[in-house]
Amino acid sequence: MRKKADLPSKTCASCGRPMVWRKAWEKVWHEVKYCSDACRKGKAGRSAAPRSDQAAPTALASLPKV
Ligand SMILES: [Zn+2]
Repeated sequence: MRKKADLPSKTCASCGRPMVWRKAWEKVWHEVKYCSDACRKGKAGRSAAPRSDQAAPTALASLPKV
């Protein structure tokens, strides 16, 4: 039996936030460098985009959609 705590993790190369392994990244985990599309595009969100709600990091995608 494996614990969920065994999931690997890495740090976003753009914003530096920790990312935890996700099933969606199963086959590309070694390629994953950024936590979100915004980071992948080089926009770490530090520019204080007022519409940050639309640029939700991938890490929040697991939250239930209302
Ligand atoms: Zn990031």
